[in-house]
Formats: sequence, C-alpha cells, structure tokens
Amino acid sequence: MIPYGKHTIFPDDVSAVTEVLEQGFLTQGQQVPAFEKALCDYTGAGYAVACNSGTSGLHIACLAAGVKAGDVVWTVPNSFAASANCARYCGAEVDFVDIDPHTRNICTSALVDKLHLAAAANKVPKAIIVVHFAGSSCDMAAISAITEPFGILLIEDAAHALGAKDPQMHKVGAGKYSAMTVLSFHPVKSITSAEGGAVLTNDEDLAAMLRCYASHGITRDPAMLGDEHQDEPWFYAQFELGFNYRLSDVHAALGRSQLKHLDDFVAQRLALAKVYHDALSELPLIRPVLDENSAWHLYMIELTQHDRKQVFNALRQRGIGVNVHYIPIHLHPYYQQLGFKAGQYPHAEHYYRRALTLPLFPALTADNQMEVIKQLSEVLS
Ligand SMILES: *Cc1c(COP(=O)(O)O)cnc(C)c1O
Repeated sequence: MIPYGKHTIFPDDVSAVTEVLEQGFLTQGQQVPAFEKALCDYTGAGYAVACNSGTSGLHIACLAAGVKAGDVVWTVPNSFAASANCARYCGAEVDFVDIDPHTRNICTSALVDKLHLAAAANKVPKAIIVVHFAGSSCDMAAISAITEPFGILLIEDAAHALGAKDPQMHKVGAGKYSAMTVLSFHPVKSITSAEGGAVLTNDEDLAAMLRCYASHGITRDPAMLGDEHQDEPWFYAQFELGFNYRLSDVHAALGRSQLKHLDDFVAQRLALAKVYHDALSELPLIRPVLDENSAWHLYMIELTQHDRKQVFNALRQRGIGVNVHYIPIHLHPYYQQLGFKAGQYPHAEHYYRRALTLPLFPALTADNQMEVIKQLSEVLS
C-alpha cells in the first residue's frame, strides 16, 4: 500500500538522536532551547515554546490567550478535532465559521457576517483559531483586518503549514497578523520529532505564559518570585494550573535535525503536487488550488461525478492508501451532543462528501506517483 503520508528520516537525524541518548540530558537539557531557537530563526518569530504535541500547543495557546468558561472560540469545521477541542479543554464554548469552497480555508465573507451577528448579540469570540488547510496559508492580512476592530485574538493552527508562506510572502509562524502560531511535528507533518509541537509568538508576555502552562504552571524566574526568595536557589512557585506538556531533548534533537531538511521537503512536495496538477487536469474532479507558497501537507481532490466511497474502496483495493480530510468537526458525536447539526456548515459538508486525499510525501517516488495516477484514472474511467 502506498501511504497517503510518511516521514523521511535521514542518517543525520538518527545520529542527532543517538548523540543525545549517549551523552546528553534526555529532557530539560540544551536540545529543546536549541530547537526553539532554530524555529525562531526559520520562521522569524520572536519566541518559540516547544511542547509535546500540536494538541498541547493549541491548549496552552488558548490558556495563554486567557480563554476560559464563559468565552467563545471560533474555528473552522474542516479540520482535525484538536482545532476545536483546545477551547473545550478551557471550558469555553466553540463555534464554527464555514469554509471557502475554493481554498477550503476559513471563508472571510462568512466570518464578516457571523461577526456582525455576534456583535449584535454581544457574543464576540475571545479568540479565533484559523487553520491553514493542507499547508496553504489563509489570507492572514485580510482576516486580521476583519477581526482587529473587534479585539479578537488570532491563533493560527499551522499544523499543516510549517514551511509555507502567506499571500504577502511572510513565512507562516512569523506572526505578522496573529498572536500565536501552533505547529505539530507528528510524522505526517512537514517535519517530525515523532510526537511534538510548538507555539510561536512575538509577544514576550504570551511566551512566558506559554512556557509556564507547558510545565505545571511553575516558574523559576527570579523576577516573578519576589525579593525574599532571591537567596533561595531551590525555590520555585506555581502560579497557574499548568500541565506537563514539555518536549523531551530526544524529540527536540530529532525535530532540530529535521528542520534542516524542511525546505527540501517542501520543494519535493510542491514538485509532486505540480505533477498531480498536470496529470489530473482531464479527469472529472476538482484539483486543489496550485498555491506555490503552500507547504503541501496534503493533495486532496474533490470528485465531481463519482461516489467517493466507491472510489476510496477501489483505490485501497488497488494498493493506493488514499485518505479523507476532514470529517467536519461539528458532525462528530461529541459536537452533535453540544447541539451542532448537519447542514449548519454546507461548504465544509459538501467538500467532505466528495473529498479524497492522494498520497503525497517527500519520498514518494515518480513510479509510485505514476501508479497512483494510473489507478485513479482507471477507477474514474
Ligand atoms: C495534526 C494536527 C493537529 C494536532 O497535532 P498533534 O501533534 O497530532 O497533536 C492539530 N491541528 C491540525 C489541523 C492537525 O492536522
């Protein structure tokens, strides 16, 4: 089976990990700060706080944003459940903005309409989590221009988009238009640390809060501890109810080594996406927008004349590991129990019914990609 996504590990990645195992700290050594600095250098962000998954990154981002019971957080239905769950962890209410059927990212006109209704009802969201679906950045300049007058904090779920640029050519993570950007280093993402994530920000106070929440809510920062503790080197204090979301040095060493390959990975993904784009032009399907600045996490097509289930199962039988991204979050039983209904976000639902993700990852060979194209063409003929 040709998988839909797969990590690529090089010998230098392996030696980076074994070096840590043989001589370093396994956790809380120098690898995590070095990885954080490398993420800042790459993206241009002022601060990076590494954590043990993209999901924990989303959680601490919400906590640092002050999201709590009584608040509302908006995101899109076309994402992994973690994009919404993070607000629920904080006790907040979640609501969704439908997607643009063309980009499959948040629809800015739906956002404008919903914001005016929310303002009239005095229910403006505390934060909005936008998702750069498949690695193609949302138009953050346009979104921040819409949300700024309402004082809404913007969080980018950039789990798909490390290595991408926004339409103004800012690197995703630079934080030009948002408060925080969350990354994931799960093996199917742009780079991997096995499990891992990070939150990027340009705000020193948010960075301190993120760090605090990722490690039990505890700080050893002398500036926060008060004068009476300055000669007590053992002293630390817990100010918030935090978590152990720390990344280990072993994982950070892998992530830091992988980051050196990021630009090559993204270039390889783009080259493969272009091959699909040309090869599929005559088939009865909608191709994704060929965004040259995307990180190309996914290559998903939308079937226009065929039953998705039949095509999915036929391709799996033929050894093509197709997948589907995403089951709209509001259709999951957990969110249905909260009162969400099918039909509420028609663009996300329509897209989901017809979506199919084709294999795309840096090590996908030309032969394997030709096989995917051949099998898909046969199944659709
Ligand atoms: C992968 C992913 C996450 C969660 O990241 P983990 O590292 O797996 O916890 C969150 N949001 C989106 C859009 C993702 O694709």
